[in-house]
Amino acid sequence: MSNHTKPVPEVRRLLAVCAHPYDATFALGGVIAAFADAGTAVHIVCLTHGRRTDAVPRRRLDRARDLGRASRHIGAEDVTLLDHAPGTLMTASIDELAAEILDAGRDADALLAIDATGPDAHPDHVRTMRATYRAATRLGSTLYAWTLRAPQPTRGQQVLVVDADRERQRAAIACHTGLPADDPLRSRWLNHQQREERLIVLRTERVLSPVATRADL
Ligand SMILES: [Zn+2]
Repeated sequence: MSNHTKPVPEVRRLLAVCAHPYDATFALGGVIAAFADAGTAVHIVCLTHGRRTDAVPRRRLDRARDLGRASRHIGAEDVTLLDHAPGTLMTASIDELAAEILDAGRDADALLAIDATGPDAHPDHVRTMRATYRAATRLGSTLYAWTLRAPQPTRGQQVLVVDADRERQRAAIACHTGLPADDPLRSRWLNHQQREERLIVLRTERVLSPVATRADL
């Protein structure tokens, strides 16, 4: 039973798609935990093995292990960690990325990505969002985008406000052994501690035309 006052939408199987391993916890962790708490089966697919190229290849294994542990804390059932190099997604084909995303979760009735419609979005995040949009279109599934941006009602976007599970998110973040205590990611996340998160509905399964126009993506 969920005790959230602003519950997540009812989803049977959710595929959470991120560009970098830390995105799954720092950005999406509170929302993933809230879905898992509501009974949704969550599968995470992460397209690259890090934020930057590793000088020591072994660190990739450490990060895969850390992400596996973190995922259990936020209640995800499974993680697929793909091996694209960080910073290279802009050169990867959208169709190929979408096919890899679909391979990870063909039975998902909803997908979750990080909103990359803002002007300062990381190029890997932009590519990931576009590929996830294509995967959602192929599946005919709903696509939610987690966002920190202020609501933009003039764009006609449907926005859901949901309660995040910060306790589980914190436990998941503690699993990232390779992240220094003073890393800016930590301080950025610590500034974002309110209970609620916002999800933009980028695509719904119930309409024939997508909620977002192609220009938005
Ligand atoms: Zn990222």
